[in-house]
Amino acid sequence: MPRAGSDEPDSFPAQTRADVVVVGGGPVGCATALAFARTGARVCLVDARPQSLRLGGEWLHPTGAGILADLGVDFAAESIPHAPGRGFAIFPKESDPIVLPYVGGELAVGCQHHLLIEAIQKTLARCPNVTMLAGCRVTEVARGRVAVATPDRKRSIEVTADLVVGADGRQSVVRQMLGHPGGSQPISYMLGVLIEASALPCTEFGNVFLGGPGPVLAFRVDVNQARVCFDVPADRVAWVRNPSGLLAAYQPTLPRPVHEACERALAVAPPAVAANQWLRRRQYGRDGVALVGDAVGHCHPLCAVGMSVGFLDAVTLAKSKSVEEYASSRRSGGRVPELLSMGLYDLFVGADAGTSELREAVYHTWRSSAAARHDTMRLLAVRETRRAALGVTFARLLVAASRRVALGSVRRPVGYTLGAVAGFANWAGWFARESLTN
Ligand SMILES: Cc1cc2nc3c(=O)[nH]c(=O)nc-3n(C[C@H](O)[C@H](O)[C@H](O)COP(=O)(O)OP(=O)(O)OC[C@H]3O[C@@H](n4cnc5c(N)ncnc54)[C@H](O)[C@@H]3O)c2cc1C
Repeated sequence: MPRAGSDEPDSFPAQTRADVVVVGGGPVGCATALAFARTGARVCLVDARPQSLRLGGEWLHPTGAGILADLGVDFAAESIPHAPGRGFAIFPKESDPIVLPYVGGELAVGCQHHLLIEAIQKTLARCPNVTMLAGCRVTEVARGRVAVATPDRKRSIEVTADLVVGADGRQSVVRQMLGHPGGSQPISYMLGVLIEASALPCTEFGNVFLGGPGPVLAFRVDVNQARVCFDVPADRVAWVRNPSGLLAAYQPTLPRPVHEACERALAVAPPAVAANQWLRRRQYGRDGVALVGDAVGHCHPLCAVGMSVGFLDAVTLAKSKSVEEYASSRRSGGRVPELLSMGLYDLFVGADAGTSELREAVYHTWRSSAAARHDTMRLLAVRETRRAALGVTFARLLVAASRRVALGSVRRPVGYTLGAVAGFANWAGWFARESLTN
């Protein structure tokens, strides 16, 4: 891959021509460039930011890991530190953990965000038909053409291409050029800490600790280290400068070794921070301009679906004859991982009677039914993306929760039962509204 580096401003051409120009070299932009390169297309990949240590996707479901493997990305061969993951271990407050393994023994990949991108870039570097404009920012987008500013902002490069792909993340300029407003909905913040992996109770799984101010997700990113992600309510983001406040708030829900390891890590460095936002996945592009990854939409990272969904965008686009064909195939299943993520997040943080009852029904169903664990993991792993499948799972949970409330109603105040029923109605309404709209 010819690479025009940010330290060599004169090496940038004034004009360049490609079959496909990809705007954004995050995980999905790099995967898109690779998917097109594998079809023989000449690709120009433009990325504004040199490698950074920002907090982002680090758990890749087997679906996403399989797509990268098919594209020729080999973490071990590229000497990229990583660790396999066998599924999730959920730790409800004050009850035994629930283990949800991937169906068929499939494995996820845990890897630090910048190293995951490096793994794809190393594979891209061996593709002679890919040119990278590193450290360059796309400033204007039109059908068949983008204008790119060099890293020193002193010169402009014109890239012409048959297809423009916006892989430029949540604030996508390509999305704006298509006339779609951003307008992501703020949800919460994620504070990330690296600890020693041996502190995790279930080292081979993604550990989810519930019952604190927000869920905490902890998983290995290589054989020695684990990432702990604290979901922090928007009005408590000041904890980023107050580690003792953060640790005190989550202490009751964290196993002691995890808590102590976080304490040691936070004594040395502040947590990494990122905003969690929701933008519904609806716009995939048109007329020779496509959107992929977070530029299409994004959701709470609790279910770690962002990169797998984005990689599915990438390979679907590379196989499609037009942006319209791509949009139509992705629209059918693209919203299911997002609805699952937002639904599970609200289920885990909600405190009203309906949500509490539904949450207990989910725990009970996961504990008692192998079929429910199987269905949940197919949805979580982005293996099952049909809305009907999510609808059936959701309806079964509502029925189970209603039965629990009906059986317990004689022992509970009438107000509580009515509150729970109203809560179920809210959930049903939310699900119907979200799942019926594109
Ligand atoms: C805290 C947190 C934890 C997460 N955890 C997970 C997880 O465990 N698993 C998972 O699958 N997902 C996770 N996600 C989601 C995941 O990080 C995103 O879905 C993924 O990074 C999206 O990739 P992308 O390439 O579409 O966008 P981005 O990663 O945002 O990359 C966009 C790229 O475009 C570049 N760019 C932007 N504008 C321009 C421009 N004008 N010109 C040139 N370049 C431009 C940027 O420099 C950037 O490199 C998490 C997200 C957050 C916030």
